[in-house]
Amino acid sequence: MPDAENGHISSISVNSPRTDLLSSDPMDRTKAPPLFQGDADTENTVVVCGAGGFIGGHLVADLLRQGFSEVRAVDIKPPNQWFQKFPQADNRSLDLREKDNCYGALENADHVYNLAADMGGMGFIENNKALCMLSVTINTHLLMAARDNDVDRYFYSSSACVYNQELQDTADVEPLSEEDAYPALAEDGYGWEKLFSERMCRHFREDFDITTRVARYHNVYGPFGTYDGGREKAPAALTRKAIAAKLSDSDDIVIWGDGTQTRSFMYIDDCVKGTQKIMHSGITEPINLGSDELVTINELVDEIEAAVEVDLDREYDLTKPQGVDGRNSDNTKIQQELGWEPPTALRDGMEVTAEWIEQQMRTHREAETTSRFAASR
Ligand code: NAD
Repeated sequence: MPDAENGHISSISVNSPRTDLLSSDPMDRTKAPPLFQGDADTENTVVVCGAGGFIGGHLVADLLRQGFSEVRAVDIKPPNQWFQKFPQADNRSLDLREKDNCYGALENADHVYNLAADMGGMGFIENNKALCMLSVTINTHLLMAARDNDVDRYFYSSSACVYNQELQDTADVEPLSEEDAYPALAEDGYGWEKLFSERMCRHFREDFDITTRVARYHNVYGPFGTYDGGREKAPAALTRKAIAAKLSDSDDIVIWGDGTQTRSFMYIDDCVKGTQKIMHSGITEPINLGSDELVTINELVDEIEAAVEVDLDREYDLTKPQGVDGRNSDNTKIQQELGWEPPTALRDGMEVTAEWIEQQMRTHREAETTSRFAASR
C-alpha cells in the first residue's frame, strides 16, 4: 500500500492501481512511468484546462511523465487551492469563461484538453443548475480560441449525465450506449450543458475542421480529488463518512437514498489513460469512458467498509438528492474502437482511494489539534 508521506514506491501490476503515483512530492509523481504511452510529439504544446481539479491534475502529471516539455496548466482557482500542482508546468490562474483568457491560454497550443467546469456531485448539480450551465461559456470560448489559434486536437470531457433519464429509471438498468443520448432528456442543468457542448465540438469539427474528441465520463474516483466541502461524489463522500466514523469510534453512516440505486465507478488512472487514447484516436463521435462494473450504493459501501476496516450501521436519508435509479456504461464501442476498456476493479481502486482520504483526514486532524494547542498556550 502507498506510503505517500515517505514517497514509498510500490510494485506495479497491469490492472491494479499504480500506487507509485501517490508520492506526496509532486516531482516524484512525474518521474514514474506514464499511464499512457503514445507516439505524440513531446515538443507539442499541450494545454490542460481545469488543471487544478481532480482529473486535470492527474492528466498534467501523466503528460509530464511522458516528457512533454510545454504543458500549460490552467484553472480559475488560485494555485494554492489546486489538488496537484507541478513546478515543471506553466501554471496559470485564469477564468476561462472569459473569451480573452481563452485566447491567451491557447496561444501556440497544439493539443487542448477541456476539463474545466463548475461541477460537483449530485448534491451540487441538483442545487446549482444555472452555475453548471454557465460552463457552456468555457467550452464555447475555448473552441473559438482553438479555431483561431490553429489547434491540432481538442478534447472535451462530457458526462454520462447527457443520457436520456427515462432510460435510467430502474436499478436493473441496461448499460447506456452512445445512441441513448437521443431523443434527448438529459440531467437538468449539468447534463444539458454537456450535451450542448458536445454538439458545439461536433459542429466546430464539421464547419471549421478542428479535430475534436469527446468522452462521456461515468463517475470517476480516486486520490487527489474532492472528498468534502459539498462538491464531492458518492465514493469520496461515503469514504469520508466511513473514516470519520472510524476516527470518532462511531458506527453510524448516513447514505443518501435507499442504497439500492446502481452505478459504475471508474478509477482515475483508467480515466487518464482512456482520455489520452480517445484524444489520439480517430473516434469522431462522443464515446463512453467508464467502468461497466455495476454495483448498488450498498455494495459500494460494502467495499468502503472493507477498505476502511469498519462495520457501519447504515441510516438512509430519502430527503437527499440521489440522481437516477440506475446507470451503467455500455463499453461495446470503446472495445471495438480501442480494444480496451477501463480495467480497474472497484475493490482495488477503493482500497487506494480510502487509504489516501484517511491519510488526508488524519493529517488535517493533527494540524487542527496542533493549532488549537498553540492557540491555548
Ligand atoms: P473538478 O471540479 O475537480 O475540476 C474542474 C476544474 O475546473 C476545477 O479545478 C475548477 O476550478 C475548474 N474551473 C471551473 N470553472 C472554471 C473557469 N471558469 N475557468 C477555469 N477553470 C475552471 O472536476 P473533475 O472531476 O476533475 O472533472 C473534470 C471534467 O470531467 C469536468 O468537465 C466534469 O464535468 C467532467 N466529468 C467528471 C466526472 C467525475 O466523476 N469526476 C464525471 C463526468 C464528467
